[in-house]
Amino acid sequence: MQGLMMDMPLLVSSLLQHAARHYGDNEIVSRRIEGDIHRYTYADCHERARRLADAFVRSGTAVGDRIATLAWNGYRHMEMYYAVGGLGAIVHTINPRLHPEQIAWIVNHAGDTHLAFDMTFLPIVEAIASKCPTVKTWIAMTDADRQPKSDKIPNLVNYEEFLAQGSTDYRWPELDERTGCGLCYTSGTTGNPKGAMYTHRSTVLHAYAAALPDAMGASARDSILPVVPMFHVNAWGLPYICPLVGAKLVFPGPQLDGKSLYELIESEGVTYSAGVPTVWAGLLQYARENKLRFGTFNRTVIGGSACPPAMMKAFNEEFGVEVIHAWGMTETSPLGSLSRLQLKHDKLPAEAKQKILEKQGHALFGIDMKIVDDEGNELPWDGKTFGNLLVRGPWVMKEYFRGEGGDPLQYDVDGRGWFPTGDVATIDADGYMQITDRSKDVIKSGGEWISTIDLENLAVSHPAIMQAAVIGVHHPKWDERPLLVVVKRPGAEVTREELLAFYEGKIAKWWTPDDVQFVDSIPLGATGKILKTKLREQFADYKLPTA
Ligand code: ADP
Repeated sequence: MQGLMMDMPLLVSSLLQHAARHYGDNEIVSRRIEGDIHRYTYADCHERARRLADAFVRSGTAVGDRIATLAWNGYRHMEMYYAVGGLGAIVHTINPRLHPEQIAWIVNHAGDTHLAFDMTFLPIVEAIASKCPTVKTWIAMTDADRQPKSDKIPNLVNYEEFLAQGSTDYRWPELDERTGCGLCYTSGTTGNPKGAMYTHRSTVLHAYAAALPDAMGASARDSILPVVPMFHVNAWGLPYICPLVGAKLVFPGPQLDGKSLYELIESEGVTYSAGVPTVWAGLLQYARENKLRFGTFNRTVIGGSACPPAMMKAFNEEFGVEVIHAWGMTETSPLGSLSRLQLKHDKLPAEAKQKILEKQGHALFGIDMKIVDDEGNELPWDGKTFGNLLVRGPWVMKEYFRGEGGDPLQYDVDGRGWFPTGDVATIDADGYMQITDRSKDVIKSGGEWISTIDLENLAVSHPAIMQAAVIGVHHPKWDERPLLVVVKRPGAEVTREELLAFYEGKIAKWWTPDDVQFVDSIPLGATGKILKTKLREQFADYKLPTA
């Protein structure tokens, strides 16, 4: 027997509509590329998003079309999310830090019909316009009186003039909730990028789950600043989560340095933020150097790569900011797990609590996870056994866009498909998961795994070290041994011997790196994560002193 409840589809447009009706005068504040601050409300955003959607429909956009953005976090990007998704087309957020050739490749693969861009990226658009035949219209996201001219870009229109063609009478269509609404390509550190396409249903369910108190814990009492870019897995869902709960949104635009972030946090009463570890290093350094404290800022989500415990400690103990460590990936919308304490942990000593919070945490409701060996056998949840992490759930991808790479899923004995994350992890008896490595970064020494994340976390807890990466290098006897590559803090001194001695007593002796290399910088990828592939190339000819 079927139940008797309404079959109302879960649609992204309903998130913004809800915010406009119930939190209509709550603000969306943006630092613009020009440097000034723009402010308006959810009601304004909803009205402009509907006009923009109507303008797209009038320009021939149909359900299922892909429309790209090359843009920072800001109000126009937010309008693009809702206008494009809301009308039934797919907002394709492109990472502008990729090489122009790669951007052109992605635009062509997606078959984007329009591309809207911030002025910062005019040179990229000029470089790729002639190579992207599917793009009918290039939209400059700027005021009409600042509209650029370029003979390299055919059909260049102004965002405001384009939007003005739409009507506020536009009503959101009631789509099938399985319709695609967003497209995000993985950064393609190995091979060509592959696209993950989100549905309305997956996006709304992800926003619901992420907003819960023990997940991101977002509320209408918050002022939320997504530092994580809207081109990096939808800023981890915040442009959807904030309207769902009515939180004030603060967009930092292109200025992500410590000083700009600090000033915006203070001036907009930001309570909450989210970003990858590398951006926070700048903020912490600026606040320390200038002996600053935060007025309202009290918690931040850190993920995308392992948050070093030293960073968590600094936020917590020096600045009173709680760090919520999260794990996820493009293919999981992205949130899979977050580390939060439970009532039963109250009686634990501070250090034991800290150890739990350092893990990547337990799965949100909606995500099922397990660890398996190379034959697919499930491994115990004992907090010690490492295995390949598999996940499934309504916001986990089942297949890449255009079937690229074939069927990525791994099937269990019941025929259920699981997405192999490419991460190696442990899960403890309470379900707290801890990533030890990406499978392609793991070091196998004499057949045993060494966690590069553990070694890196320890290195950056040394006061003289700003950044650290550990890679495996060939060793004649052990196959692979760890090499520690570090960047020192400005003005700090430390020797190879001192650094190696620093590991004593903190890890199994055989995990200690065989050597240390001091470098000026460590290569970062397009989402601000350490690019180990590049680093391995850089040290391809390096020979260990122990070899
Ligand atoms: P890409 O794979 O293109 O770098 P993603 O943002 O999808 O882009 O990266 C997902 C990967 O990032 C995960 O599979 C995992 O290896 C890593 N990751 C994400 N969050 C964490 C975390 N908190 N700790 C360790 N690794 C993480």
